[in-house]
Amino acid sequence: MTPPDLDRKSALFLDLDGTLLEIAATPELVVVPPALPGLLAHLHQQLDGAVAIVSGRPLHQIDNLLAPFHPAAAGEHGVSLRFCDGTLQELPVGIAIPDDWRDTLTRGIEAWPGVRIENKPHGLAVHYRLAPEREAEVWELVRSVVPADHPWFRLIPAREAVELGLRAASKGDAVERLMAHAPFHGRRPIFIGDDFTDEAGMSMARRFGGMGLRVAEAFGGDPANVRAWLTHGTQHLDSQPPPQAASPGAPA
Ligand SMILES: [Mg+2]
Repeated sequence: MTPPDLDRKSALFLDLDGTLLEIAATPELVVVPPALPGLLAHLHQQLDGAVAIVSGRPLHQIDNLLAPFHPAAAGEHGVSLRFCDGTLQELPVGIAIPDDWRDTLTRGIEAWPGVRIENKPHGLAVHYRLAPEREAEVWELVRSVVPADHPWFRLIPAREAVELGLRAASKGDAVERLMAHAPFHGRRPIFIGDDFTDEAGMSMARRFGGMGLRVAEAFGGDPANVRAWLTHGTQHLDSQPPPQAASPGAPA
């Protein structure tokens, strides 16, 4: 699918790792191109703030990586949601990964060099990017810890990682909640993502009359192409007349 031109009624929902940023060997090693925060801020201004980052990372990591850009954002796949006016919603409050799960997983990966646990405020991820041969064992371990029918937590497949996250949260839910409010309400959402959890965000964008774009299909699997499309988008928007001046007969 070819990515469309942006227009002034677009809203952008952007995943971070694998979409705006190249995947790194570990989440800490990710490199933010120096021009990216400014590019996103430019789009944010052109779209009246309708640019949201929707990531599996906690909000504070999103903010640190993209500083000083501080947009509406969903962290941990929608568990933490920040609206454009800065209002923060955490959902649901007070549910934490049981300590014995963390202990069992920590002991379970001890003998597997390259496998590591990333703790998050409301969940955790087990990464095996540096030891891909452990994939089956990692999945066996996490499945032994988290029952498939657990009421609060679910396993979320990620790129060379598996996450334990809150069942109640999803990127689709995050898009729906953001779309209910300004400046997103009434706009045409475009969701771009590269991973399993992004599919829910893409589906929700389509339900709002918008589009879901997979990085692999629409951008050749390369975050640099996503950034280039966004850069093209800012130039295209700059060339468009402001909406109020677009009526026939309006002075040029
Ligand atoms: Mg991603």
